[in-house]
Order: sequence, then C-alpha cells, then structure tokens
Amino acid sequence: MSENLYDRLAAGFPADRTKPCFLLSDGSAVSYGELEEQVGRVAGRLVAEGVQPGDRVALQAEKSVAGVIVYLAALKAGAVYLPLNAAYTPAEVDYFLKDAEPAVFITDDVAYVREAANHRRLARAVPRTAADLAAIIYTSGTTGRSKGAMLSHGALAANAVALHQAWGITPDDVLLHALPIFHVHGLFVALHCAFLSGCPMVWLAKFSDGEVLAGLSRATVMMGVPTFYTRLLANPAFGAEAAAGVRLFISGSAPLLPSTFAEFEARTGQRILERYGMSEAVIITTNPLHGERIAGSVGFPLPGVELRIGGGEETGVIEIRGPSVFGGYWRMPEKTAEEFTADGFFVTGDVGRQDADGRVWISGRAKDLIISGGYNVYPKEVELVLDETSGVVESAVIGVPHPDFGEAVVAVVIGRGEEAALIAEARRQLAAYKAPKRVVFVDELPRNAMGKVQKNLLRDRYAGLFAGS
Ligand code: AMP
Repeated sequence: MSENLYDRLAAGFPADRTKPCFLLSDGSAVSYGELEEQVGRVAGRLVAEGVQPGDRVALQAEKSVAGVIVYLAALKAGAVYLPLNAAYTPAEVDYFLKDAEPAVFITDDVAYVREAANHRRLARAVPRTAADLAAIIYTSGTTGRSKGAMLSHGALAANAVALHQAWGITPDDVLLHALPIFHVHGLFVALHCAFLSGCPMVWLAKFSDGEVLAGLSRATVMMGVPTFYTRLLANPAFGAEAAAGVRLFISGSAPLLPSTFAEFEARTGQRILERYGMSEAVIITTNPLHGERIAGSVGFPLPGVELRIGGGEETGVIEIRGPSVFGGYWRMPEKTAEEFTADGFFVTGDVGRQDADGRVWISGRAKDLIISGGYNVYPKEVELVLDETSGVVESAVIGVPHPDFGEAVVAVVIGRGEEAALIAEARRQLAAYKAPKRVVFVDELPRNAMGKVQKNLLRDRYAGLFAGS
C-alpha cells in the first residue's frame, strides 16, 4: 500500500469538497475541492516536466495558497519538497540549490499553478513508502553550513496524527494561520492538523495584530510563535472578548516567557498551550489539552516519543527517539552520525530536564551554555530572574570572552533600570558566578523569522566588552 503523505492528508479532506479550506482576507475562499483539483494539475505538470520520484522540488516565494498547492503537488508527484525562506539572498539560495540539486526550482508559484491549469490531472499519488523522503528542511542554523533535515512520509504522517489527536482538532474548528510556510511550524504542524480534520483556515499572508484580531472572530484555534502573543497583548483592543470564540491558543518555535503566559491569562482568561519542536523531529512535547498547562514547561513527550536527558545529570542535553525523528542530514553522513547516539537517539542540542511528573523544562541551547570561571551557567536561569525584576521587559543572557573568567555572563535587556541595581538583584537571588558582570540596555533584541532571539549576533556585538579589562 502506498504511504504517500498526500494520500494520508487527503483522506482527512471533508466529504463535501465545497467546504472552504482557505478563508482569504479579501472575503473570498478556496474550497477543498479547488485545492484538490489544482494539486492534481500541478502534480501532473511536475510529472510531465520529467520530475521523478525522489527528485527535489524547491520553492522560494512569499506565502500564498499557491505555495501550499506546490507543496502538496510535490508530495503527490512523489518528489521531495524543499521550501526556502523568501528572505534568503541569492548567495544563500545558491548554496541550497547546489546542495539539494532540485529538478525544479519555482520562484513564482502563482504563475506556476496558473500555467498548470491546462495540464492533465495526476489522478493517483505516486506510490511512496513510509521511509521515502517527503521534504528537506534546511535548519535555520546560525553557525556553520546550514543542514538539510530529511523528513520522510512516515515521519510527517506520524507527527500529524499525534498532534491532531493531542490537540483534538475537529472538522468544526477554524484554524488561524498567520505563520510562514517555509518552516515546519506553519508548513507541517498547522497545515497537517487542518487537512487531517478537513477544517478551514483563516489564511493571513503574515502576522499583523490588526488582521489577526479580525481573524480571531472567525477562528477556534490559533497557532503562533511567542512574538505573536506579545504583539497581540501590546494591542489594547485585544482582550477576553476578542479571544472568546477561540478554544485553543498554541505557542512554539521559541520559548514563551512566563510573563507573557501570565499576562495572556489575566487578559483573556485563557492559558496558552506551549509545545516544543524542531525541524529534525517536528513536534516533540506538548502541554496537555485537558490537563494543566504550566508556564515555562513545554509539557510531556508526545505518544511514541522516547525522551531522556544525556550526561547523567538532572539537567543535560535532551535526546529523543521516535516515529517523527528525521532520517539524517542531506548528504552529511558524518554530521548525522555525530548527532545520533549508538542506540539511535537524536541529540537535540537543547538543554533541559524532565521532572518527576514527566514534564519537560528547557533551559536553552547547549551552544548557549556559558562557562564562566569553570562554572556552568544556564542563561535561562538568569533570564528568569531578570525578567521578574521591575522595569525589565525581556532579557537575553550570553557569554562573552573575558580575560580572567574565560567567559563572562552578560545580560542584554529590554526595559528601564540601572545596571548596578539589576546586577545586585541577580546576586541576591543567584550564586555570584551566575550574576551578570555587565548589563546592556537595548530597544530590541535581534530575532529571526520565527521569533527566536539570535544570540550569536549578540555574542558578536558584545565580543569586545571586556577586551583589555
Ligand atoms: P527550528 O528547527 O528552527 O524549528 O528550531 C528548533 C529549536 O527551537 C529547538 O531546538 C529549540 O531550541 C527551540 N524551540 C522550539 N520550541 C521551543 C519552546 N517551546 N521552548 C523553547 N525552545 C523552543
């Protein structure tokens, strides 16, 4: 039997194909039937152009329904989908194209879909096994060469089914989709949940608090990155009334600050459900739909996911094994071997711990760990203390070279306050070696498209802070 992911997803499409799939900002809609028809034609075009099973089909374009059609058509044609961030420069794209060698590279998805209108529909999906590759997602890696995580049809299907169940998505839901679709969050997590239940999506090209506020009045589920929630909270029009029709707010891709969680609950009466994932495994853990959602914890491993802490200490690098874990990095067998243990666990690079109840708590990336005077400092522990201090909106704690300590703890802070007072507060609550040696005030922290603070840029910016001291 074919295990083509497209067939698995299409099995969830509603029996009544006139039901909308995409609810667009201009008031129009694209039905599931129209989606299916166009996917068939674009898949037909790909095959007619010579795309063979396993060939890569790359797309670099701004978010649009046409992009989703190209994605599904690539799956249906048995190809391997390769989404590229529209913000990548030609030099960056050049690297991805040389590395992945796609048979087709599409930059104008709208035209590509339109021109497929006269092609014969590909009636059946090209048979694929669970182990066959469905997509390559280049990690947003900030150091070294970007690596292509290889995700199979089986891995993506397993994760989609697990999430669909964990979050109880039904045909009556309406999903607000304001995420980019070049990344696993918007592409796999959100789209697959909607397709498996055949529910409509309020489809927004990008996040804008005004459009999201309007969209929420039609939605029952929202998926977002933490920045979406802080921006909504910054809009005084957002409150319990605007959120009343929404049964589930989900956050991931970057840590949700406990202060955001608390403010959101105070404002709307709803507790954001935080989950944790990565390109290499899609979603790994989630807070419960029905049980208690705890600020600062990313919840429990999904069914079928084995999770352990490496290194024999309470806190260490999270290792995982399970049906959705990727098959390795594209054309990097050595890198792949380095990041898997002998017994087949993937070493995530995220540092965390699992409490007695099984809840997982993440303290940051292993590469962000600071070693100051021989002591390990987990930035998250310091950030939590600073974030609770009055006047501080958000902090990012980094290690920078120091002639005496090797690395010194430095806090980059959005907010108002006195450097000395913040350092004193940190020393009051933490062992002295964990307290920042310097605090720098900024208006904004550098973030990538998914809202992650880019600590590597901060480390570069402040690398000379202690030079000559
Ligand atoms: P990416 O592969 O671009 O999706 O990035 C994955 C990384 O994002 C993970 O390895 C984590 O470091 C981080 N991440 C994702 N979700 C969360 C979360 N809920 N809390 C903390 N970090 C997260």
